[in-house]
Amino acid sequence: MNQWIDQNRSDIIRFLADMVRIPSVNPWFSNYDPYTTEKEVQEFIAGSLKEMNFDVDIWEVDAEKLKEFKGMPGYYESRPMKDRPILCGRLKGSGGGHSLLLTGHADVVTQGDGWTKRAFSAEIEDGKMYGRGTVDMKGGIAAMIMAVKAIQQCNIQLKGDVLVGTVPDEEAGGMGTLDFVHQRCCKADGAIMTEPTSLEIGPMCRGILWGKIVIPARAGHIEMYQGHFHEGGAVDAVKLTQLFLAQIDQFNRNWSSKKVHPLLPMPCQILVAQIKAGEYPSAFAGSAEIYFDAQYLPADLDEKHRGSKIKKEIEEFVAAVAQTDEWMRENPPYVEWLLDADCAETPVDSSFVTTLIDAAKKVSDQIKVSGVGSHTDMGWYVHSGIPTVNFGPGNPKIAHQANEYIELDEYIQGVKLMASMIMDWCEVTK
Ligand SMILES: [Zn+2]
Repeated sequence: MNQWIDQNRSDIIRFLADMVRIPSVNPWFSNYDPYTTEKEVQEFIAGSLKEMNFDVDIWEVDAEKLKEFKGMPGYYESRPMKDRPILCGRLKGSGGGHSLLLTGHADVVTQGDGWTKRAFSAEIEDGKMYGRGTVDMKGGIAAMIMAVKAIQQCNIQLKGDVLVGTVPDEEAGGMGTLDFVHQRCCKADGAIMTEPTSLEIGPMCRGILWGKIVIPARAGHIEMYQGHFHEGGAVDAVKLTQLFLAQIDQFNRNWSSKKVHPLLPMPCQILVAQIKAGEYPSAFAGSAEIYFDAQYLPADLDEKHRGSKIKKEIEEFVAAVAQTDEWMRENPPYVEWLLDADCAETPVDSSFVTTLIDAAKKVSDQIKVSGVGSHTDMGWYVHSGIPTVNFGPGNPKIAHQANEYIELDEYIQGVKLMASMIMDWCEVTK
């Protein structure tokens, strides 16, 4: 197997290059300029799968039917979804064994500024392939398809079915995955989401909340004596912000011993990312907004698989801070929520995860199992009953950057690891 992959290295790399050269930028970035090539990359994948004897189904999102998911993660009202197909291919196994879904998103983020390489040419230099989507996540999609091809080319018969699912609209929404899972979900006994993880096996991800603490205050001349606010004096929003920042530090010290997960190197925290206050130098700021990113763990999910418990904890914290100040007791600050991206976990000791780990160890003695600090779409699958891990080639920190690149040795290693995982989970006939 690994020998076949090494011998066919250049073809395996060319397959990735062909996909990178189709600029499947999510049309959200161009304000729905009618030109979008998510369709072209999906057709390219469909053609490749058909050549490999997959039964391929391609369809478009029916936004009408998704209306029942309004308010859930992934749903975006009146999102244009025409010519943005979803794809599911099935390779029938001989029977017995487990089925496996390999899945990823076909869209990429916009090129952005700062490139010194061409963004859609798949240039190769010093063992790296450059291009938008090399890491996020055409590297993963190419590796999963090439892994199946390697198995076929070595005349190995799988017992379980292999499903390949690729969706549009991940990078600016989630209508593709929402439809894939809920309308025509390809049920499987396990799923690998091949988002980049630097080839670490990631059986969990964190939930992410974005919010802002809005602090009302009262503007007034900064050089004048103001007196008590009951007598019309100004109230400085910057001072109140300082109070909050100190209390957030305290709050985080508490979380740093409580909100930890054995697969993550850092605890969940409320991390302040932006502060907005004030209008000009000679006036006290009349209000302030503290924007934060707070993470949460699968153990904190509510019954709808969302982060409402953590939202409540943060709202109570804000209310408690308000109680320490006379103005804020009468003019309470509040939290406005901007995002709740869910999380999920497949137990490390479940047979799916242990099978993948053992399969990977046959190829490499440096296999790491670690959680994904950010959100991934794995929750869709886990919460519909499919054990799922994140696993793919490419350094996730390089995703969305200028001069995005993938190390070709890592990509090839990804093909070998995935081939081993597919064979061990789906099982092979003797
Ligand atoms: Zn991605």
